[in-house]
Parts: sequence; structure tokens; C-alpha cells
Amino acid sequence: MRAPVTDLLHDAVRDFASLPPFRDYVDAERILVVATRGRAGLEGKRAACHFTRFSDSRQRVSADGRWELPVLCLHGRDMRYVISFVLPRFLFLSPREQAEDVAHELLHIDRAFDGTAAPLCHGRAFESLVRSLADRAAESGIALPELARPGEIISYHRLRPLPQPYRRADPAARRRYDERDLVLARLLFDPAEREPPPPRYVYECPACGERYPRQRRLRMASCGSCSSTYDGRFKLRLV
Ligand SMILES: [Zn+2]
Ligand SMILES: [Zn+2]
Repeated sequence: MRAPVTDLLHDAVRDFASLPPFRDYVDAERILVVATRGRAGLEGKRAACHFTRFSDSRQRVSADGRWELPVLCLHGRDMRYVISFVLPRFLFLSPREQAEDVAHELLHIDRAFDGTAAPLCHGRAFESLVRSLADRAAESGIALPELARPGEIISYHRLRPLPQPYRRADPAARRRYDERDLVLARLLFDPAEREPPPPRYVYECPACGERYPRQRRLRMASCGSCSSTYDGRFKLRLV
């Protein structure tokens, strides 16, 4: 059995963290790399960066004092960020797209490396930085390895549940996570999962006949073409 995909991804994070500007402030050993199981198809989130400090207070407690972020400690080491990759979607990407996604998530890390989010938000400037970082990585010979072959069973580390902000007043909230919360999961890399799953429900407008394929059941929904707000005359019906 090959190394868990999340280990290979952590190696890639380490490689990217050795490039400027990341090498000045990113400590890859304080980034936890995990994966989550996503739906089939290429649409949707491919990776995410999770923070351990709020930007408004730069602390685990939000500026208004109502929310707190859990402690994330792995083998005694305080983790600052969690980068999660969505499988199998990420496996279908080209090496270039994968490199851009790794650069993208690292760009969400603040230069203080204190667990907060960088102030730069998604947009054109962000995307052009991502591309130039992927270029720089390629020039430096940094590339993601082949993560999985079609039909192969791969393993990955997952953290379940992912550490989430909790209300400070909630006595039942999870306040601390450690290596015992990491589970080694397996996944068959099925090439058929490149395609999105067929819709489970198809709804139709009784007036204009427009069809709405959906993965989930709709309750109070009417046709968006016939009325911009909910209108019972155009209530969608299941076909
Ligand atoms: Zn992002
Ligand atoms: Zn309609």
C-alpha cells in the first residue's frame, strides 16, 4: 500500500512552503493536511484552508467574545492551519491545477503565521498570484506526484469532525482535537466519479414546463423563470 495521499499532499505543501514568499513565514510542520470525501463530479470545492485564530481578535476567541476556536494539537505540536483536500475530485485535476490549488490554499495563510487568515481575498489579484506561484514552482522543479491511478485503493487522513468555531457558552462543544481524531480512511479511485451523479429528483414548473434537476428534495420552491419570488401558482412538482 502506498503512502496516504494526504502525506504526499503534505510533501507538496512543504515543497511550496520552501518557495518565496512562503519560506519567509510558513512552517509546514504546523499545517495539518487532511482530506474529505466529496461528491462525484468536478464542480465544487476542491480544497480549503481552515484557521485556528479569528482575524478580528487574532485570538482563539472572537472579538465579540461569543465564539471560540478549538485547540488543535498533534503529537504535542500546536497546529496553526488545516488544509483539507476534497477527494476524489482533487485526484482528477491536472498537475498544474493541483499545483495552483496548493498555492491558493497557502495564500490564505497570514504572514504572521498565527492561525489567522490573510487579508487578501479571492479575486483577480489573488488568481494572478496563484498563477505566478505555480509558474515559480514549475521553474524550481516542484510538481505534485501522481497521487492515484484509476482503480487503485488509496488511503488518506481525515479529521472528523473538522474543528469548527463553537459558542463559548456551549458546555458540550469540542474544545480540543489531537492525533486521536485523525482517522486513516480508504477510497477506491473510481474514474466514473469524474462525472457528477445523476440528479435524484427532477422538478417541473406547471406553467412553463422548465425542468429543475436536483440532488436534494425541494420543499417550498417555485419556478425562477415565472416568478422571482415564491409564487404558489408556479410551485415546482416532482416528475
Ligand atoms: Zn480560497
Ligand atoms: Zn415556469
